[in-house]
Amino acid sequence: MSELPSAKLFIEGRYKKLTRDLPQTIFYCPDCKGHPRRRRKCERCEGFGKLTRDSVQELICYVLGGALKTRKNKFHGAGREDLDVRMLGSGRPFVVEFKNPKCLDVDLAELEAEINRRNEGRLEVQNLHWSDKSRVVVLKESKHAKEYGALLEIEGGASAEDFDKLPAGRVTLAQQTPQRVAHRRADKVRERWVEFVGVEAVDEPHLWRLSMRTEHGTYVKEAITGEGGSTEPSVSSLIGKPARCVELDVLEILDEGGEQLERPRAPMTFGDGIF
Ligand SMILES: [Zn+2]
Repeated sequence: MSELPSAKLFIEGRYKKLTRDLPQTIFYCPDCKGHPRRRRKCERCEGFGKLTRDSVQELICYVLGGALKTRKNKFHGAGREDLDVRMLGSGRPFVVEFKNPKCLDVDLAELEAEINRRNEGRLEVQNLHWSDKSRVVVLKESKHAKEYGALLEIEGGASAEDFDKLPAGRVTLAQQTPQRVAHRRADKVRERWVEFVGVEAVDEPHLWRLSMRTEHGTYVKEAITGEGGSTEPSVSSLIGKPARCVELDVLEILDEGGEQLERPRAPMTFGDGIF
């Protein structure tokens, strides 16, 4: 292709995150904000400007941006998980926006394989294809229920009978804004549904694996602990024993109502979706 069709290019796909140490986007140091001059004297990040070495964004854009010959990018995910939460199943949809690419002669299937080869065991991308700005809006505005797998530690231990107390069908929780996000979210009570899918013993009686579906915007860790009654009911209050969430995985991103999303489309040929 000889002429550049646009100063911006959009590439869409899904990512799976297989580790518990990767934020979705660049994790700038909260003190110096990664500012080139200010970070030099910053004690918090010791001049690095960031609090983690990598992010999903950086691992993906290192390869894509390298091929497109631009480092300017924005990463848009369909929501995000905490950095210590794995993203499994068929992955989370994302769109990356590249500004002023200098090269368009790229093979997305090859680049996808390259990203996966470089990040084996940490990050996996699927179904990379050309996209457009309208998809950013769709991804940002769409609401998704999620299925989670949580490793629970039960104080004092629990039995299978305790978990029988979890209701079948949907339960509505009232969640007061958790402490950990109180600095950036309005303090109010939200109602969200959850559905308990299954439970199995990992190391009886203390460790159990619980899978549950939750409505968009549910604070899952608090839905488990109850956070001192600020979420009611919670797994802890329903089984009558304090439960702590040791590890959390997103098992699947669902549609707003809690059904499976349609399967990802087959990769498009080069040029589709470019205006
Ligand atoms: Zn800093």
